[in-house]
Amino acid sequence: MKWKEQLLNLTAYQPGRTIEEVKREFNLEKIVKLASNENPFGSSPKVLEELKKVDGSFALYPDGYATNLRNALAEFLQVSPQELILGNGSDDLILMISRALLMPGRNTVMASHTFGQYKHNAVVDGAEVREIPLTAKGEHDLPAMLEQIDENTSVVWVCSPNNPTGTYNSESSLVEFLKQVPDDVLVVLDEAYYEYVIAEDYYDALELAKQFNNLIVLRTFSKIYGLASFRVGYGVANSNLIQTLEPIREPFNVNTLGQIATQAAIKDQDFVTNCNIRNREGLELLYAFCEEHGLNYFPSQTNFVLVDFKVDGNEVFQYLMKHGYIVRSGVPLGFPTSVRITIGSKEENEGLINVLAKFLQEKAAAI
Ligand SMILES: *Cc1c(COP(=O)(O)O)cnc(C)c1O
Repeated sequence: MKWKEQLLNLTAYQPGRTIEEVKREFNLEKIVKLASNENPFGSSPKVLEELKKVDGSFALYPDGYATNLRNALAEFLQVSPQELILGNGSDDLILMISRALLMPGRNTVMASHTFGQYKHNAVVDGAEVREIPLTAKGEHDLPAMLEQIDENTSVVWVCSPNNPTGTYNSESSLVEFLKQVPDDVLVVLDEAYYEYVIAEDYYDALELAKQFNNLIVLRTFSKIYGLASFRVGYGVANSNLIQTLEPIREPFNVNTLGQIATQAAIKDQDFVTNCNIRNREGLELLYAFCEEHGLNYFPSQTNFVLVDFKVDGNEVFQYLMKHGYIVRSGVPLGFPTSVRITIGSKEENEGLINVLAKFLQEKAAAI
């Protein structure tokens, strides 16, 4: 078959092992998954309340324009409905942007290391990928990224806060960058963890999208809203940009239940605030543990922390799994001696820390 050549070197996304598999293999009763930055507190109870009212008429296609969700979101964000594009998760928006702007002969600039889907899609679409190492602080090196932009660049990806480091770019550095990116290069600002941010010099991305016509901001209901299973994300940009992107979107990409669930979730901002506060407490607990044991970590604006254990990240990962905690090894994320830990509930965080303490103790004893 006449496959795109680049497909032959790609591998499919490897989903983590299921909780059931891990339970069986290690003979465990309970598994705590702190690997995918999901919300340990679930989602707003208002979501389930709303879903219970669903009358069972599933034969009809969803509203392809997601009118009610779009209007609710526009009101909540104080933007116009025409400045929004909805996706089947923000992954879908990343795919649309790639499909719309990337092809052989074009290039795209991104950080290394950052969220893997930018590169994955760029490779599928045949564009050259230019990866710029993060700074020592784990932040995007925006001046260096700027230097990589040339007349064939069509998209620059900025993940802030960044996955997997949890770090962000300050308002001044981002604005300085945006001012210098040529008008015909799209800047994608992926803010999947926006609702977790507390830094004071963090920018207002939606305000920036009003100022810069070549900026699109991506957000999602999968993280703090705890609705990952519904697959709903959105992009905000000026209406001309959105209008040009819209034909790429699959007509019914946001399903009916997702539209209902997210509308209910928007109305419960107390839930969001509460999750942020509890997440901070979890982060502080983990930071204190790291400091006590001399482990380096990147201070995080998200619900995860990348911790450097100065040993093979896979070893830490395996040890934790044997003891009932699934985290993400830093090895495939580009940080071979680290693991990425999602903040859980108080009980989960304390349990994890106990296992980590035991791991460090055994390591020390073995020397
Ligand atoms: C989780 C995540 C996404 C994808 O979110 P979905 O809306 O579930 O597709 C996008 N970007 C980053 C940086 C993420 O961590």
